[in-house]
Amino acid sequence: MSVIGIDFGNESCYIAVAKAGGIETIANDYSLRGTPSCVAFSPKNRILGVAAKNQMVTNMKNTVFGFKRLLGRKFSDPFVQKELKHIPFKVEQRPDGGIGIKINYLGEDNVFSPEQITAMLFTKLKDIATTALQTQINDCVISVPSYFTNAERNALLDAAAIAGLNVLRLMNETTATALSYGIYKQDLPAPEEKPRNVVFVDFGHSSLQVSACAFNKGKLRVLATASDPQCGGRDIDMGLAEYFAQDFITRFKLDARKNQRAYLRLLQEIEKLKKQMSANSTRLPLNIECFMEERDVSGDMQRAQMEQICAETFTRVERTLRAILHNAKLRPEDIYSVEIVGGSTRIPAVKGLIEQVFGKHASTTLNQDEAVSRGCALQCAMLSPAVRVREFSVTDVQPYAVRLAWDAARGEDTDMEVFPAFHPAPFSKMLTFYRKEPFTVSAYYSDQVPYPDTFIGQWHIKDVQPTSEGESQKVKLKVRVNIHGIITVASASLVEKKQDASQTESIEMENANENAQNNQDAPMETNGSPQEQQQNGPETQEDKSKEKPKKVLVKTIELPIDARTHGFSQQELNAYVEQEGKMQAQDRQEKERADARNALEEYVYELRGKLSEGEALHDFVAEDQRTRLVNQLDSLEQWLYDEGEDQNRQVYSDKLTELKTEGEPIKQRRLEFELRPGALDDFALAI
Ligand code: ATP
Ligand code: MG
Repeated sequence: MSVIGIDFGNESCYIAVAKAGGIETIANDYSLRGTPSCVAFSPKNRILGVAAKNQMVTNMKNTVFGFKRLLGRKFSDPFVQKELKHIPFKVEQRPDGGIGIKINYLGEDNVFSPEQITAMLFTKLKDIATTALQTQINDCVISVPSYFTNAERNALLDAAAIAGLNVLRLMNETTATALSYGIYKQDLPAPEEKPRNVVFVDFGHSSLQVSACAFNKGKLRVLATASDPQCGGRDIDMGLAEYFAQDFITRFKLDARKNQRAYLRLLQEIEKLKKQMSANSTRLPLNIECFMEERDVSGDMQRAQMEQICAETFTRVERTLRAILHNAKLRPEDIYSVEIVGGSTRIPAVKGLIEQVFGKHASTTLNQDEAVSRGCALQCAMLSPAVRVREFSVTDVQPYAVRLAWDAARGEDTDMEVFPAFHPAPFSKMLTFYRKEPFTVSAYYSDQVPYPDTFIGQWHIKDVQPTSEGESQKVKLKVRVNIHGIITVASASLVEKKQDASQTESIEMENANENAQNNQDAPMETNGSPQEQQQNGPETQEDKSKEKPKKVLVKTIELPIDARTHGFSQQELNAYVEQEGKMQAQDRQEKERADARNALEEYVYELRGKLSEGEALHDFVAEDQRTRLVNQLDSLEQWLYDEGEDQNRQVYSDKLTELKTEGEPIKQRRLEFELRPGALDDFALAI
């Protein structure tokens, strides 16, 4: 059983594995370390990863990419609507308001959710890891942008479940990077010393994430994050595409924006140009043959010009870099180093901005492409009993303030902030309510969240009744930011006191608000009951339980909760798992078919080659048999490109078996000859 870490990027994914000897990155079926986040469909199968990206231009309508940005969102989301303008595949609204990606697969129209598409990519990643490691893959840690909300995190967990992955933690990308950094540093300050503050900047394909972390020996604490979910390398690509599209209209009278295929090719060429510009400040050419209307186009650009065209993107980068200082309450001189990861930090202007804002050079201690996946693999090893690694404590943050609201039946406050922004996570808080009947609480993100929908979830606490004296019951809710960064009401329990008749309703309601008690879980979650957690909260400020020795008199009863939050129901998940299984079977079947065809084709070429004049098998078969066999091979070749193009597996393997009954004895004679030089004479005598 292996433990792996997955960096699920907007453009590409990386997989790392934790082994006894350390962390390794796994190469895919094309011997590449990065696998494009790309899923395509054909009349026969699905095409995943590198192969999908390679056929993108010729199968545009059925090649899906950029879906990480669509996870957990509604079709009507203005952000989604904006995205749709750039997407060459069809996207429609599902009956529940979600996003449906419409493609043609097996000759039919199919609609898949972003979760399903993500699951397909995960299936491929799982497959790559299984092949490379030759073991079952199940446990993993997957990275998520730190700015992802409950809806997106739940969608990602659903995708992983559909792919049969057991996610031990959804880990914030910059936190995974921080772990990759910290675990190998031998010179971190001792636990009691002033921590070392390090800023991490991850500028990827479509997002910018920054975090500030405090390190001591054996532990890291995220202080704050700052991010721009809509600022990445692709914004530079699109800025330049806009420029060249305009340029081509002027100089060639060709409008690339009217032709999706041309526009896609333009973007691909621009990405190459952009990368060259990072290494070279001279004027560089851009040439695309047969661009539109069978005409070639060409242009050129210089780094300084790119910086001007994409000025807005760089302004956004600067703003986010400055925001981390504000959010973490750090001055540049408090920062030990600024570590950069993510493909787009290779852009010189970005390094320049870092220097400008933090007053120090961007540091490249980490592998820019692999740090996130490596951190995830490390975390996975720490959470799994399968592999032992050095312990390193990770305390993350919950980036947005979270409010809990409830129905204020009798004049009490109707909501409170349960977690301020950048509160440590994972974390649980106990809230006490006094109620005579079932009640409902809802959680919302504060308005600063960059999403149109702030709703997190609603929980209906059932089975609450008045005491035998007709009084309110004490109900404790455990509100938790869990290990995935998902906010839930983890439990509700009735605290039955043996003697407490003094409370009146109005006081009870105040208590419901004021007595909200803070209790911290150990940074890793425990599964104890709320009562136990009340006792072990190390930083409890308002915890009054210690003053109450009459604990023995308290009896707690777990209450059932009806939860309404994001994510699929178990029933929906089961159906998607089944559907994914069928598609995998179809892919396997198609692969076996293609393999059988290839095996036959290879044998035909090999045998015919070796039978020709002067080649290995030429002298080991009688001439008439050879002529007949070569003719047969010629017509088989013809058949393979004709009606034999698309037969089922059995047809190919039958033909191969038949062919081998003739071919193998010839090969055998050659082999015998090699082993026993006299054999050729015997054979010559025999014919
Ligand atoms: P995200 O982090 O947004 O989910 P990702 O992890 O897939 O996306 P990365 O692999 O970190 O993104 O970075 C990919 C981006 O970096 C692409 O936009 C790519 O064009 C850009 N990039 C890669 N190399 C260079 C370079 N040398 N110069 C400029 N940009 C580069
Ligand atoms: Mg990334």
